[in-house]
Amino acid sequence: MSNRKSSLIFCVVFCLLLGAVATMGLMRSLQQEEDKARGRVEGVSFLIAEWIEGSFQITDYLLRDILGHVEPEDLVYPPKDLQAHQQLTALVVSKMNTVPNVILAGLFDQNCIITHANSDELGWDGSHRDYCRALRDFPDRDTFVSNAFKSTTGPLNITQTRELLPEQPGFKGFAAVGVDLTFFSKWVEHISIDPLDVVAITDKNLRLLARKPAKPETLGKLIDDPIVEAFITSGQTDKSFRATSPIDGVPRLFSIRKVEGLPFYAVVGEADQHWQADWRHQVRVAVGALIVLWLLALFTLRTYWDQLNYLSELKIARDKLETLSITDALTGLANRRRFDNVLDGEYQRLKRINASMSLIMIDLDYFKHFNNTYGHLAGDRCLKAVGEVIQQSLKRPQDLAARYGGEEFSCILPETQHADAVSIAMTIKASIAALGIPHSRSNAARHVTASLGVATIECTPDISPDYLVHLADQRLYWAKNNGRDQVGFEPRPAHNTKND
Ligand code: GH3
Ligand code: MG
Ligand code: MG
Repeated sequence: MSNRKSSLIFCVVFCLLLGAVATMGLMRSLQQEEDKARGRVEGVSFLIAEWIEGSFQITDYLLRDILGHVEPEDLVYPPKDLQAHQQLTALVVSKMNTVPNVILAGLFDQNCIITHANSDELGWDGSHRDYCRALRDFPDRDTFVSNAFKSTTGPLNITQTRELLPEQPGFKGFAAVGVDLTFFSKWVEHISIDPLDVVAITDKNLRLLARKPAKPETLGKLIDDPIVEAFITSGQTDKSFRATSPIDGVPRLFSIRKVEGLPFYAVVGEADQHWQADWRHQVRVAVGALIVLWLLALFTLRTYWDQLNYLSELKIARDKLETLSITDALTGLANRRRFDNVLDGEYQRLKRINASMSLIMIDLDYFKHFNNTYGHLAGDRCLKAVGEVIQQSLKRPQDLAARYGGEEFSCILPETQHADAVSIAMTIKASIAALGIPHSRSNAARHVTASLGVATIECTPDISPDYLVHLADQRLYWAKNNGRDQVGFEPRPAHNTKND
């Protein structure tokens, strides 16, 4: 994999990991904030439920107190003894006045007819009311709290009742008080909450009895909330959940709690915006930090890529220089330096496997005359053309054609038998001649020709590659001395003549 690709993958993985770690941290901290908020709303709903329970215990004590002064024969209407009736009525009213929020107090006989009361409804038949039926028709029950309702006299109230002498057989009548529920609203007003939070009290029919922030138009109305409805029908005592308020549309974390033994529910909601405030701040800081880290990672990647570009340009330039340093500028063939290195390297390699190596030395004939006749530029063009045909004569990748110096060329032929090397030399000689470059002052022919020397040795540790050069040179001199334009080799084949 390239450095560029792997660094890109590393950078992407790093950025993703950072993002994942930040997301996981934020999710954990959101969960912690939610747990804390849940603890708070559950605590407040518990206190409200306890307070409501305590309030109704006080009114129950009031009922017990009143009934302590009542005998079954007192519950008659119209009264037989007007004075005794007035005294008992006065007692009921004076007891009622000891408890704030109690707006009605009265006594009912066994037929649910009001016998004593602080109102002018004496003789009124309440037998159709649930608080009468609950005590009369269910002997096990000796106290009852009705649902909230709006009385004919105005405020939202409930009726709390207690049976007279429940321990004795037979239903003898009961005492009742009407509790003004507006005190719920007055009380919740004193609870200090965030403007977006909510505290509410409902009855078991989901009728809203009190709410902070106050919404007078919703008091006494039914709340349409499927989650709360499901909670009430489930019979659970408390539950916390996240929902959007059906009254003001604010998303909150709610706690709803049933008031023990009473038809009331305390609801406390903390707005998401409130309990998530710190967390949202954390999110902003984390996102900011994440963006900075991502930008830093991108910047580092960019700098690294610039460095890679620089290094690769440097490498290209170095390779170019290296190639130039081992290439002959005129012919494009390997230069003498490369020739020496390859000769030495190949000899070392072949020595290990005891293989043979051949060398061809090529020298143009009468080239000084060529230069003198046609000029140095023409001489250069001729050398270039000769270089090309020599290169084309070599077919195997390990063969090397080099400019040995001046108008001399050389071919290194590793793992090549003598006969094959001679055959290649013949081809080169013929190809140079076939170029047909005129050479009027050559004594060998009318065109440019070359003399070649071929030598082959077995590569062994006791001789050096210089010996191979020396041998090839010797055969080249032989060719020169014997009329030029021919290949010198040993042993000389019988058919090698000047015209080969
Ligand atoms: P011989 O047949 O004995 O080889 O005769 P020669 O004239 O070729 O040999 P000599 O060694 O006397 O001369 C070689 C000449 O090659 C000398 C020089 O003018 C020419 N020469 C060497 N290098 C270059 C080169 O790079 N460019 C050109 N144009 N000529 C070169
Ligand atoms: Mg020469
Ligand atoms: Mg020459």
